[in-house]
Amino acid sequence: MASTQYESYPPELNAVEEQYLLENVKDWSIAHGLAVRPAPSFVEPSQDPTGVLAITAPVTLFPSLFPRRCFEEGLAIQKAYNELYSAIARDEEWLKEIVEELIDIDDFVGKLWQTHLAVKKEGYVQDLSLGLFRSDYMVHTDPSNTSATVGLKQVEFNTIASSFGGLSSQVSNLHKHLLTIDAYPSSTASVIKADALRQSKSASSLAKGLAVAHKAYGISRTSRPLCVLFVVQDPERNVFDQRHLEYALLEDSGVRSFRLPFQQTLAHTKLDSDRTLVYTPPHSPSTSYEVTTIYFRAGYSPDDYPNAEDWDSRLHLEKSRAIKCPSLLTHLAGCKKVQQVLATPHSPHLKRFLPDEEVASRVLATFAPIYPLDQSQAGKEAQKLAQNLDSASRYVLKPQREGGGNNIYRKAIPPFLEKLPETHWPAYILMEMIEPPPLKNAILRNGDLQRGGVIGELGVYGVCLWKDGGDILENFEAGYLLRTKGDQSEEGGVAAGFGAVDSCCLV
Ligand code: ADP
Ligand code: MG
Ligand code: MG
Repeated sequence: MASTQYESYPPELNAVEEQYLLENVKDWSIAHGLAVRPAPSFVEPSQDPTGVLAITAPVTLFPSLFPRRCFEEGLAIQKAYNELYSAIARDEEWLKEIVEELIDIDDFVGKLWQTHLAVKKEGYVQDLSLGLFRSDYMVHTDPSNTSATVGLKQVEFNTIASSFGGLSSQVSNLHKHLLTIDAYPSSTASVIKADALRQSKSASSLAKGLAVAHKAYGISRTSRPLCVLFVVQDPERNVFDQRHLEYALLEDSGVRSFRLPFQQTLAHTKLDSDRTLVYTPPHSPSTSYEVTTIYFRAGYSPDDYPNAEDWDSRLHLEKSRAIKCPSLLTHLAGCKKVQQVLATPHSPHLKRFLPDEEVASRVLATFAPIYPLDQSQAGKEAQKLAQNLDSASRYVLKPQREGGGNNIYRKAIPPFLEKLPETHWPAYILMEMIEPPPLKNAILRNGDLQRGGVIGELGVYGVCLWKDGGDILENFEAGYLLRTKGDQSEEGGVAAGFGAVDSCCLV
């Protein structure tokens, strides 16, 4: 990516060009639901008492440069990643060994596992599981020459509440629209070539995943209409991202769905004697629905469980006959510890789940070095690296958490560990920082334009439906997400306030 046309991308805009571009970004975004609810720090709740306001989602003005080879590889191996994680979720014994190392030092993981055991005791009544996954990557460069691409390296694999599939389709449409209306200066033509912009079909593909599960559930056992239940956080600023899936599910497949705040689970759902899940919408209590599929967009963070009753809610949903997206075991398979164990050099684990050697080696090539912080030989060496300021600056320390804002970066690691009792260190994994190529872009967030160096993170969605103790019934790649953040920020979460949604300009 060294040629000059790439170095001067994106181009400087004069005031008139910039105004035209911004006007179109703002209007197109709202007109197409590329939007979020405003943060309370941006619009005070008292100024919007009825909750009618929405603002443009943080987006990049230009599609960011992304190496074509890396992009194609990420999409090509998604089916293998779906196979890998669905195999892990079906291997309770293997997962148990990993989880048992965490139970005593990570309450949240312990609670998830106990909930699984509690359902198992009564017997699972649904053997189908749905995964709407997202595998996240950065392009890794040679640290001594950041214009030399080494390849795609995985940041993490998400098995629960993989977000932004709805907005991602929209942002790739936005960038294409801006190109079509000549909002980008003509100088960009040498970079944004005819086949450079890749549309993300994530919204419709993820909705198709939900539709596939809905259909596989079969006919109603209670003579009620069938529905999919989105179990959500409340309030949820990223609601339109989820609405895009809901609308696509209805429009493409005719499947009805409802949004249910996780905290209201016990108030509005009940289990029939055969554990069919029945949902009664509070706005229309005369009609109850039989739930085919529970799509969790909540429940992945300890913050979702402030009261003991919230664990009762999770247990209640997990006991039901509805297909879970994800099941408890699939949720647990997304632990960062699983990723670390898979990445152990020369381990037999990958082969166990991906018997095809060629497939396994392509997946292996995307692993970055990750170490445990336990009493194993590798763990002890990693502990030394993590305690030293110089060596720690090449690493990130991660707990078993989702949703952003939980990691400890580089020089902050040694003082953090100093305060943490050593018995709790194994609850974390130590990962080498991926060093992506330096890029430039402009991010529009809350009406402010931030220009400068950025870092991109590619997410590839995958849909997988399988039978526990049986085979995979459906497996497909489901579009992509590009998130871009300022290069001064270690975290990348869009919802957490660090990043923007973007699309790929392949080079
Ligand atoms: P979460 O599940 O909370 O999203 P991640 O593992 O994705 O946790 O880490 C959050 C963010 O931290 C990522 O989006 C990325 O920006 C940054 N990050 C995580 N791991 C690495 C890494 N190995 N190299 C560079 N950046 C990383
Ligand atoms: Mg995650
Ligand atoms: Mg992440």
